[in-house]
Amino acid sequence: MRLQDKVALITGAGSGIGRESAILFAAEGAEVVAVDLNHEAAVDTARQITEAGGRAIAVTADVSKDADASAMVAAAEEEFGRLNILFNNAGIMHSADDDAIGTEEAVWDLTMAINAKGVFLGCKHGVPALRRAGGGSIINTASFVATLGAATPQVAYTASKGAVLAMTRELAVIHAREAIRVNALSPGPLNTELLMKFLNTEDKKQRRLVHIPMGRFGEAKEMAQAALWLASDESSFTTGANFLVDGGITAAYVTPL
Ligand code: NAD
Repeated sequence: MRLQDKVALITGAGSGIGRESAILFAAEGAEVVAVDLNHEAAVDTARQITEAGGRAIAVTADVSKDADASAMVAAAEEEFGRLNILFNNAGIMHSADDDAIGTEEAVWDLTMAINAKGVFLGCKHGVPALRRAGGGSIINTASFVATLGAATPQVAYTASKGAVLAMTRELAVIHAREAIRVNALSPGPLNTELLMKFLNTEDKKQRRLVHIPMGRFGEAKEMAQAALWLASDESSFTTGANFLVDGGITAAYVTPL
C-alpha cells in the first residue's frame, strides 16, 4: 500500500477531487481527515471510507477562516497522532466570476479568500504539524488556468490559482531542508460539478473541449491518482513542481520558456 502509516488531511473532501482522493488515499492505507465546509458531504465521505474498512474522520471547516484551519489540523493530530500529508484542495469557481469589468468586488474577495488565503492558512497551521511528524508532503490544487489564460472569462479564479502556484514554489524552497515537499496539482477542465455549473451551456462546453487535445473533460478520479503520487514517497525528489494533469491542453498552447 502506497500510503501505509500516513495521516492525510484533505480539504474539499466532500466532493469531486477531494472526495475521490480521500477514498483512494484510504484504500492505499492512509488515515484520512476529510474536511469540508459542507458538513453532510464530509461525513458522507468519511462514512464511505469506514464502510470500506478504512479509517477516517469528518471535520467541518471553512478553509478561509484561521480558527477553522487551526482546528482541522488539531483534529488530525488528536485523532491520529500526527499529520504527514496536507492536501489543500478546497476551492470555488463563482458563477458571477467574469472579466475585470464585470466581476463584482465581493466575488473577487470571496474567491481569493477561499482559493488563495485558504491554502495559506492550511500551510500556516499544517507546516508546524508536518515538522512535528518529521516532514511530509503538501499538495495545493491550482489549475491549468494559472499557466494558460482561459477562453471563458473568470478573472478572480485565474488570479487566485496564480497565487496558489507562486505560493507553492516559495514554500517548496523555504521548507526543502525540512523534508517538507510542496507541490501544485494543476488539473485541466474536469467533468465535476464545479466546472459544469460554470460551463452551463453546450456552447460554453464546446469552447473548452475544442482546446483539449484529448477531446474530453478529465475525471476527478484521474486527479486523485496524480495526487496520490505527489502524496506518496514515490515523489521523494519532487518539490516546487507544477504537476499539470490536463489532457494535453498546455502542451498544445504554452510555449516553454
Ligand atoms: P467540487 O465543487 O466538486 O468540490 C469542492 C469542495 O470544496 C466542495 O465539497 C465544497 O463544499 C468545498 N468547499 C468550498 N468552499 C470551501 C471552504 N471555504 N472550506 C472548505 N471546503 C470548501 O470541486 P472540484 O472540481 O473537486 O475542485 C477541487 C479543486 O480543484 C478546486 O480547488 C478547484 O478550483 C480545482 N480545479 C477544478 C477543476 C475542474 O474543472 N473541476 C479544474 C482545475 C482546478
